[in-house]
Amino acid sequence: MKSLVTGGAGFIGSHLTEALVARGESVRVLDNLATGYLENLGAVKNQIEFIQGDLADLETVQKAARAVDVIFHQAALPSVPRSIKNPRASHDANLTGTLNVLIAARDNQVKRVVMASSSSVYGNSPALPKVETFEPAPLSPYAVTKLAGEYYARVFAALYGVSTICLRYFNVFGPRQDPTSQYAGALAKFIACALRGEPYPVYGDGEQSRDFTYIENVVRANLLAALSEMDGAAAVNIAGGARTTLNQIIATLNELTDQNLPTQYGAPRVGDVLHSHADISRARELLGYAPTVDVREGLRRTVEWYARNSEHKSSR
Ligand code: NAD
Repeated sequence: MKSLVTGGAGFIGSHLTEALVARGESVRVLDNLATGYLENLGAVKNQIEFIQGDLADLETVQKAARAVDVIFHQAALPSVPRSIKNPRASHDANLTGTLNVLIAARDNQVKRVVMASSSSVYGNSPALPKVETFEPAPLSPYAVTKLAGEYYARVFAALYGVSTICLRYFNVFGPRQDPTSQYAGALAKFIACALRGEPYPVYGDGEQSRDFTYIENVVRANLLAALSEMDGAAAVNIAGGARTTLNQIIATLNELTDQNLPTQYGAPRVGDVLHSHADISRARELLGYAPTVDVREGLRRTVEWYARNSEHKSSR
């Protein structure tokens, strides 16, 4: 199987690229290094083809999709605040980029596109757990690009037979996540605090919860989606399937690092979603997906990685 990974130099894309290489697949990466780093691909750089280029340029994407069986479309500007500041840049990378990927998939007879979507398409509704049948309610330009990408996928499946599975990721975490990324948010900051022995800063009372999803589960979901026999287009939640509060994360970090660092509680942030939790039944039924690494084990592995790599990270 020949794969194209867009955004392969990013957090999720680089883990996926490594997993594909480990399976003996032939991998091409397309990335413009806007938020990714070549060093993320350090372990596999001699075993892949790397194209530095922009998704917003159709010719570049067409070239990258040549003779490819599967496209794992991970590239995007993955920040809500950035999209609010500069909607145009997010639109170009995320939506024009996705349209170009689908056009290139159609023109190159790519068998399957697996696309990174996001839990942000659900917006702020308090109903839990989030089911794919909920009406979407995007609240940022970023979420609009993800939802519109899903609609493009549906239309390309119906009109041109491009088969696409859109994976709605919920708060992915793990080694190599850029701590400046909005998704890194609380987790990466808390891990940095745990490693420096500093108090954990929390907005609100720490009882807000998320469906934190360890990176290995996301990689597995992508591989399952690539191999699934489904036709057409589908949107599927990918998550751990459980809720963890920030206070629970902090307690686990203290335990894992054998300390009792205090938490500094501040005013809640306006507009923060209080709770997020995914129903992962569709992922189970359609893809045979089940999370295999839970939050605690994911945190253990991530802390270990950041501890080993703190020097190299701080030199960025
Ligand atoms: P990341 O920033 O680490 O990776 C994104 C990659 O895309 C980067 O390497 C970047 O250089 C590349 N890129 C951006 N614009 C590009 C362009 N115009 N042309 C070519 N390459 C471009 O982010 P990530 O966390 O790995 O996210 C991967 C995907 O998952 C994104 O689509 C994101 O929206 C989605 N997602 C992530 C999370 C999460 O928790 N990390 C949650 C929901 C959805």
